[in-house]
Amino acid sequence: MKKLSVLLIILLDVGFFSSLSGQDKFETNRKEMIKKQIQARGITDKNTLKAMEEVPRHLFVSEEYRDRAYDDGPLPIGYGQTISQPYIVAYMTELLHVVPDDVVLEIGTGSGYQAAVLSRIVKKVYTIEIIEELGLAAKEKLAALNYDNVEVKIGDGYYGWEEHAPYDGIIVTAASEYIPPPLIQQLKDKGRMIIPVGSSFSVQNLMLVEKTGDKIRTKSLIPVRFVPLTRNIKP
Ligand code: SAH
Repeated sequence: MKKLSVLLIILLDVGFFSSLSGQDKFETNRKEMIKKQIQARGITDKNTLKAMEEVPRHLFVSEEYRDRAYDDGPLPIGYGQTISQPYIVAYMTELLHVVPDDVVLEIGTGSGYQAAVLSRIVKKVYTIEIIEELGLAAKEKLAALNYDNVEVKIGDGYYGWEEHAPYDGIIVTAASEYIPPPLIQQLKDKGRMIIPVGSSFSVQNLMLVEKTGDKIRTKSLIPVRFVPLTRNIKP
C-alpha cells in the first residue's frame, strides 16, 4: 500500500510538473510574441498589450496547431477560415481606441480569439458568426474559459446586431467589398469601426471609419488579406 501511494505521488508529480512546463512554454512563447511581433512593430497601447498577454491564444486553435499558435501568421480554424495573425489582432484592437466602459460589436467570431482579447478591455463584446459550427464552438470555448462578457450569435453580420446598438466600436474581421450601411448606422456618435475593404481576389485595405454626427470619415490604413465576408442569400 505504501509503495503504491509513493508510486502514485511520483506519477502525480511527474504529471503536474510536465503540464506546468507545457504551460510555461506557451507563456514564454506568448511573451516572446508580444515583444518581437507586436511591440517591435509599434503597438504601445497598454490595454492591448495586457489583453494579448492574458489570453491563451493556443487554446483557440485545434491541438494540431497548438505549437504554432504564437507564430507570426494566421492559422486555419476549419471550414476554410483562419484566426488572424497576432499582430493584426493587436493592431485592430489598438486602433479601436476602446475603454473599459465600452460596448463593442465584432463581425466574424471565427475561433473567438479576437473577441476574448477585446473582452479583457471593454465592458461587453457582441460577436456574430455566419458558420454555425464555428459560432457554436467559439461560444463553448469562451464559456469554458470564463469570458463571461462575450455574447455570440449565429447569423449574417452584414446587418449588425440592432438590439444592442449603438456600439462604441465595431470590428469586422472578414473583408467586405464596401462598408455595410447597417454597421455605420449602428455605430455610436464618435464611434470607430475597423474593417478590411476589398474583394478576396484583389488587395484589401484595412479602413478606419469614424462617425461624428451625420458625418462619416474613412481612412485607409494598411493592405491586408482577410477571408471574405460571405452573405446569407435569402430565398
Ligand atoms: N476574428 C476571428 C477570425 C475571423 S476569420 C478570430 O479571432 O478567430 C473571419 C470569420 O468571419 C470566419 O469565421 C467567417 O465564417 C466569418 N464570416 C464571414 N462572413 C460573415 C458574415 N457575413 N457574418 C458573420 N461572420 C462572417
